[in-house]
Amino acid sequence: MGGMTQSVPALQATHPEFLDLFPAGATPEQLGDGFVWTEGPCYVPSRQAVIFSDVRSNKTWRYTDAGVLEVELERSDHQNGHCLDAQGRLVACSHGRRGILRQETGGEWTMLADHFEGKKLNSPNDICLHPDGSLWFSDPTYGIDKPEEGYGGSMELPGRWVFRLAPDGTLTAPIRDRTKPNGLAFASADTLLLADTGESKVYRYRVTPDGQAGSEGVHFELSPGKTDGLRIDAAGRIWSSAGDGVHVLSPDGQTELGRILLPATCANLCFGGPDGHTLYMTVSTEFWRIPTTVRGLSWQD
Ligand code: MG
Repeated sequence: MGGMTQSVPALQATHPEFLDLFPAGATPEQLGDGFVWTEGPCYVPSRQAVIFSDVRSNKTWRYTDAGVLEVELERSDHQNGHCLDAQGRLVACSHGRRGILRQETGGEWTMLADHFEGKKLNSPNDICLHPDGSLWFSDPTYGIDKPEEGYGGSMELPGRWVFRLAPDGTLTAPIRDRTKPNGLAFASADTLLLADTGESKVYRYRVTPDGQAGSEGVHFELSPGKTDGLRIDAAGRIWSSAGDGVHVLSPDGQTELGRILLPATCANLCFGGPDGHTLYMTVSTEFWRIPTTVRGLSWQD
């Protein structure tokens, strides 16, 4: 930038392709502030709203397509990451309940998984859908280690793993070699990208049709990092949360295309909106969006 002072918010192209990802004149827009620590955004088409967590204030919020920001759950049991299941229902990682819950059409929540081999899960953090209908989620210990992020408790499992919840309810732990597994996204049916917030790197795993996963090493590493949540767009580009906003990378993780510069650390993001062309971002104590020309990769379509 040749010594120029970069003001925020702003789009900073590293590669010319980057500016094609946004409508002309697009700029990041703050939709709300005054939260404690925002995370876990997920657009829910049936609600015409994006749901996100304020993990530390023990609430979730919704921002509707009509532009209304309201409390979704007054007591969320410290929900963190969310995704849609294969039927489009909202699924939540709950630090407080140390499990994965699904919201039914009547609004009530059903516990899907909270134990593995007789031991409590730690505190599920983030979750994503595989095209076979299974739900993969990370289980670090932030929700039991940090009093402000859960209801405490002790670690019962011997590690911080990534679990696979099969459509028939069978729970397995295919990934056991990470320090603090966190955000995760499938780039394809056989490729999982997994952020490790303990090692500040994102790893690539080869996933087999029977639900096993083997590490293929580091896929990318950001600066200023680190990656917490990440999403993949329909062309396979990686949209990663970062210390200064959102970084967009080529599918192979090797080329930075550009950055959405924001005033604080971005923890997570999602595509959504009525036409799928909005990127929502949870940014420390704030909630933001920007229009895009691309949609997120989705297994619901
Ligand atoms: Mg996270």
